Amino acid sequence: MLFPPASVPRLIVKIGSALLVDPDGGVRRDWLTGIAADIAERTRAGQQVAVVSSGAIALGARRLGLAKGGRASLEDAQAAAATGQIALAGVWAELLGAEGLTAAQMLVTLDDLEDRRRYLNAAATLSRLLQLGVVPVINENDSVATAEIRFGDNDRLAARVAQAAGAHGVLLLSDIDGLYDRNPADPAAVHIPRVDRIDGAIEAMADGGSASGMGSGGMVSKIAAARIATAAGAHLAIASGRVDRPLSTPARHTMFVAERAASARKAWLAGGLTAKGVLHVDAGAAKALTDGRSLLAAGVVRAEGSFARGDLVTIAGPSGPIARGLAEYDASDAARLLGRRSEDHAAILGYAPRSALVHRNHMALL
Ligand code: GLU
Repeated sequence: MLFPPASVPRLIVKIGSALLVDPDGGVRRDWLTGIAADIAERTRAGQQVAVVSSGAIALGARRLGLAKGGRASLEDAQAAAATGQIALAGVWAELLGAEGLTAAQMLVTLDDLEDRRRYLNAAATLSRLLQLGVVPVINENDSVATAEIRFGDNDRLAARVAQAAGAHGVLLLSDIDGLYDRNPADPAAVHIPRVDRIDGAIEAMADGGSASGMGSGGMVSKIAAARIATAAGAHLAIASGRVDRPLSTPARHTMFVAERAASARKAWLAGGLTAKGVLHVDAGAAKALTDGRSLLAAGVVRAEGSFARGDLVTIAGPSGPIARGLAEYDASDAARLLGRRSEDHAAILGYAPRSALVHRNHMALL
């Protein structure tokens, strides 16, 4: 991925609280107007961009007059998030709208992206929004999150969103221009431009502190995000958002290079999962899969095993296993769809169908 990341087809941009909200709690409209123009430019060039936007708690705390930036207690943080989120969504809708873009809000929890059933739902919604040319604006659903709201959750959230969206790049914009070999406040600190492998030495460089005190997760959560993203086959860059047009201005950054997409995806699908069933497909479907397509019910001749939606299944062609992937339907619904064309699915099932039995984003060829 070059920087700024123009080359990746699908990009997730995470924006930290300190860039969205100024120290006295007001929205940084000028800066946001610039990034909305950047996103519009990218979209016109054919790039799909989703935004992970922090700032709800910081913004809500000011509106409610809460102490400690709204983080004195979990109730305060959740009330601040609920109040700030509606304002934040309004700002994004307005500024993207002024550029001729449609914004869509998605509030998710990290759990939503870790449980495979819910993961598939979030992934399908995200992909559909991006295909429709809409800009998803995503934040953690802080007002109902059951765990403490941690600084830096949105770094990891952005990486999970990238995994779910099959994105090729993640850009974390905050008030720091990348990773340093020690605390950047130390004058001897050296900037690291590129990381090919995240090992103990890289983790030791990260510092848990938050420079702005407003929501920046510090480097620890950014490295955690880089681990998730690179393992899912996406590059991740950390750069400073302290420039006016961060998506179109070359700037110093740290690039964490993706592991090879195919092997990363295979490792994720294989990781601790045993296949719960086998979908036997005809030669035509087998060829379509090797061409990189999703598995449609029309090409499936037999379903074996009892799997639930989100379970791992093996896909076998006439001459043996060819792929593994996450089932979009449970075994009984899959059985009803075998050999049937997509247009008939809604009538057979009685509910809005998924486009495939196994989507190519959640499949690894063997
Ligand atoms: N979701 C939080 C907010 O909108 C920010 C979490 C973080 O600091 O990463 O305020």
